[in-house]
Amino acid sequence: MTATLGERIYSRIGELARISDDPDGLTRLYLSPAHKKAAELVAQWMREAGMSVRIDAVGSVIGRREGSTPQAPALLIGSHIDTVSNAGRFDGCLGVVTAISVVGQLAKRNAQCPFAIEVIAFGDEEGVRFASALGGSRALAGTFDPAILDERDEQGISRREALAAFGCNADAIAAEARSPSTALGYVEVHIEQGPVLEMEHLPVGIVTAISGATRGFVEVHGETGHAGTVPMGGRRDALAAAAEMILAVEGRAKGEADLVATVGRLSLSNAATNTIAGRVRFSLDIRAPEDEQRSAAVTDIQAAIARIAAEREVRAEVSLSYEAPATRCDVRLMRLLTASVEGLGIRARRLPSGAGHDAMAFRGVLPLAMLFVRCRGGISHHPSEHASAADIDVAARVLTAFIASYASESDRNP
Ligand SMILES: [Zn+2]
Repeated sequence: MTATLGERIYSRIGELARISDDPDGLTRLYLSPAHKKAAELVAQWMREAGMSVRIDAVGSVIGRREGSTPQAPALLIGSHIDTVSNAGRFDGCLGVVTAISVVGQLAKRNAQCPFAIEVIAFGDEEGVRFASALGGSRALAGTFDPAILDERDEQGISRREALAAFGCNADAIAAEARSPSTALGYVEVHIEQGPVLEMEHLPVGIVTAISGATRGFVEVHGETGHAGTVPMGGRRDALAAAAEMILAVEGRAKGEADLVATVGRLSLSNAATNTIAGRVRFSLDIRAPEDEQRSAAVTDIQAAIARIAAEREVRAEVSLSYEAPATRCDVRLMRLLTASVEGLGIRARRLPSGAGHDAMAFRGVLPLAMLFVRCRGGISHHPSEHASAADIDVAARVLTAFIASYASESDRNP
């Protein structure tokens, strides 16, 4: 019995997972020796799939298959081959290997498209080695900030030095920028990294938007005191106030579809078992696929924190340090993905992405879309991360159908 395309992709993802900077787990940081090895293996697979291959100025591996007219604008299909520390094997690599295999099938069938296809393996999605992330996709989007070339990793090596050691020329980054005359759009296949598709027993789903995010900190100032001697009525307990505020954050997001709000960090100054907390600091992370939805939630959460602070006679300072707008997926590309999923007899579930992806870098630059693949238990960024060969096979078939329908639409409206 011959293996399905999904099984072959699955086994290649396993091969890539053996390339690690850490012998005890999968860790492949940007521009590391393991990244170099993985880039070489991916380049070899791209060549076997009939593509011409180059490594660009930021270390992304780009395989290109020309369309029926040479030098036609390209449909970009990408994801990343860098990982977090002690990572799972599917995050990023699933999309890269699936795209290569689908293009390989096109080459086998000698299928002609009116556009070129470029498969891209980005190397700087996770933002683990250096402070900023998405360097590879931002270079293609034309939004790479040259100032980050001076960022240094924990060993004191700058991005610029690491790029040179990898064989890249940082001075050529600006020239990597794509425009609508050279690129038609960007599509990414990625594991969901959440539980929604699994809960609904669906192998794949169509992303509507990459959620925007607001992050910050809340500092609660109460009054410290002796846990034994200060009566309950006279307390200004910063921790009890923070607890009520955290429940208000959770409560605001609960029950509203696609809105999520999280307090992931909490710290106390001079904490002791027998002391009433005087100062507490906690984090805020609020995300939604619609910017209006997110800003309404942020406003309500700030009001709730102010109300609780007033009732408890503590002082609460909210500082919002980070704000990223949502990235909407392109209506036409979503429609074609939807038809491709339905063409396989599968219900086309649309869902937002709460996590960031390379696709975000193309906001306002190129039409973009993403296809999610079911992820076992919703677990990601962990060695037990898993997507099945059967689900990957569905994703590969959806991507194949998507390219075909995109090609036939382009033929009709060149
Ligand atoms: Zn990823």
